[in-house]
Amino acid sequence: MKPLLIVSGILVASAVGAGVAISPMLTSAKAVRDDGPATTQSISQNPQGAQAKGAQGNAAHAEAVAPAPAPAPPPVVTPRKNYTYKSFNVDGNYIAMTFDDGPNPETTPQLLAILKERGIKATFFVLGNMVAKHPEVLKMIADEGHEIGSHSWSHPQLTRISQAAVEKELGNTSEAIFQVTGKRPMYLRPPYGSMKPSLRTMIEEKYGLTTVNWAVDPNDWKFRDSQKVHDAIMAQVTPGAIVLAHDIYPTTVAAMPRVLDELIAKGYKFGTISDLIAMDKTPKVQLLAALPNTGKPQQAQQKPQKPKPATASAKPDGAKPASKPAAGAAQPPRAGGVY
Ligand SMILES: [Zn+2]
Repeated sequence: MKPLLIVSGILVASAVGAGVAISPMLTSAKAVRDDGPATTQSISQNPQGAQAKGAQGNAAHAEAVAPAPAPAPPPVVTPRKNYTYKSFNVDGNYIAMTFDDGPNPETTPQLLAILKERGIKATFFVLGNMVAKHPEVLKMIADEGHEIGSHSWSHPQLTRISQAAVEKELGNTSEAIFQVTGKRPMYLRPPYGSMKPSLRTMIEEKYGLTTVNWAVDPNDWKFRDSQKVHDAIMAQVTPGAIVLAHDIYPTTVAAMPRVLDELIAKGYKFGTISDLIAMDKTPKVQLLAALPNTGKPQQAQQKPQKPKPATASAKPDGAKPASKPAAGAAQPPRAGGVY
């Protein structure tokens, strides 16, 4: 018995040792491929500049024969728990453009071209049933380095259906995205922005989906007017904002060149939800601010910036104008951007 135990112990130890030695390399290679280029390009306002940087980076890498550590490690993305993102507290004028309800073969490819021309990376919250119908469009989105999140399978109000139905909506959508892209989504944009803390916790724990709503809502689904979409976004946008739009409406897509060019001219830079979570300084600040008054004056100056989340987030994301408007009003209290 004893020799057997020793042998198996050695085997286990060497297996663990091999795992420890190999896994950082795999992680590093994967991180560079998945996150490095996306971050560089999306954060850049100038695609040519990004390419030039990339070329320098490659040259430097080729000279370094030894496995020297990468100069800038990829950002670590650790979303907050039990939290709904609407904006970020970041240094610099970073914002996240998000597009819901696709992929749509009529409009999404056009938007992709507009984003590509400007070197912008965005986040697409897709519907499972649209992914099933148009997997090739989802593949295009993924291939161009955009982030893909879940928007459920059929756009129900998740707080109004059974937990079993929620699980089917989210499980099937994550699986459909995985089948096309090889990656499961990390973020959920709940239809109509409708969520409650107990459901959010279940969704985080069971599906690894962090809830992401928005701070800027142009109501593009309602107006179907490019000028209004433009005006609303330009009026509401602030650094760190998550901008909601829908890539299924031609009027929204038609508004984007002007919107994006003006945002660039104003000094805004763009990242995916993961990019901005990696840069976000909010967690500690908000937790401190959320504590009862402890009488420590230094906490007062760390008051978080909240670019008017209450009004914007109280509205449904509105992909289905036909749905009952009363549904949003019947939501549990969401005023003040509490979650
Ligand atoms: Zn929607």
